[in-house]
Amino acid sequence: MQKNCIYLDNNATTKVGSEVVEAMVPYLSDYYGNPSSMHTFGGQVGKAVNQARRQVTALLGADESEIIFTSGGTEGDNAAIRAALLAQPEKRHIITTLVEHPAVLSVCKQLETQGYTVTYLSVNSQGQLDLDELEASLTGNTALVTIMYANNETGVVFPIEQIGLRVKEYGAVFHVDAVQAVGKIPMNMNASTVDMLTLSGHKIHAPKGIGALYVRRGVRFRPMILGGSQQRGRRGGTENVPGIIALGKAAELEMLYLEEATTREKRLRDRLEQTLITTIPDCEVNGDPTHRLPNTTNIGFKYIEGEAILLSLNQHGICASSGSACTSGSLEPSHVLRAMGLPYTILHGSIRFSLSRYTTDAEIDEVLAVMPGIIERLRALSPFKSDAAGWLQEMQGVGNEELGVRS
Ligand SMILES: *Cc1c(COP(=O)(O)O)cnc(C)c1O
Repeated sequence: MQKNCIYLDNNATTKVGSEVVEAMVPYLSDYYGNPSSMHTFGGQVGKAVNQARRQVTALLGADESEIIFTSGGTEGDNAAIRAALLAQPEKRHIITTLVEHPAVLSVCKQLETQGYTVTYLSVNSQGQLDLDELEASLTGNTALVTIMYANNETGVVFPIEQIGLRVKEYGAVFHVDAVQAVGKIPMNMNASTVDMLTLSGHKIHAPKGIGALYVRRGVRFRPMILGGSQQRGRRGGTENVPGIIALGKAAELEMLYLEEATTREKRLRDRLEQTLITTIPDCEVNGDPTHRLPNTTNIGFKYIEGEAILLSLNQHGICASSGSACTSGSLEPSHVLRAMGLPYTILHGSIRFSLSRYTTDAEIDEVLAVMPGIIERLRALSPFKSDAAGWLQEMQGVGNEELGVRS
């Protein structure tokens, strides 16, 4: 098993913090009581769960009654969408975007077969939304608007509060997939237009399989998972106690480090990005350069396959991604970059580096040392570089296929 690598794939998952492991271990061993039990042995575990809930609310600027623990981002997105629709059965219209995570897009695709109409808002070449298009799509029949805070592939950040103000005018529920934004952008739900917000533990240095859904007090909610009366009847099933304790600790650390870590990550990201695009010809940064997460860069290298770059990086022990972990293995270009209408060469030659608070200057140096050689070697092998113009012509239009949701 490979243990050490230069890990620049933090939008896919993150290292569990050592403090987080330390906090959860007692709840895997000594403190195994059921938090719902009447006895002290279980009750003390219930208190620890409440403490974790307070740690999560502190990070979000929310109240304790507004947090539901889930199994992660995918469950949070599914539960929020279902809850909003079940609570307003008379409304049959949903608005989302073309660049959402499959956890949202797949649900919307299914709902289209169940009598719902879904509007998929487009993005421009920088990955940004047109708020006039949103405004024109909203009607009194719109039950739900579900839009991500920050894009996992490009890091592009949407103007969530501006969107929320428009959504509120039409009385629709506003759900935000903030899996990539939490811990990177300060949140204050008490002063927000967002009704429901999804976060995932393993994107913020907690383990996989734990997350939380914020539901604003007063927003009608119907549970997706029915069972016992755990979590005020809003999510049945005995709580994942070690996961919840870990998520609480991770949230506390995210809050503690948010400013310092994001400043550092941005500096490292900018150094990586700037050096690459100034030293390597024919490459460009994908996505809005100003409204962007501090830890993410998505760069298109023309005339080569992103997957070939990733394999070469892998041989140097460097982990990056061609966008979504869900689509790796397939040579189909990313639905996010396609929605941006990028040219064929960029669609196929793009890779993403995503940093974390554990990323070091030495690791960035290592990537910068190997990248120019990798790109040069792959381009020399590329059958396209010699006749780039002809190839481009041949491939024109290939990037404008229909949106296909893949998992
Ligand atoms: C990772 C991710 C998810 C899914 O979260 P899981 O906890 O892996 O289910 C959803 N949305 C976005 C934007 C993500 O990056």
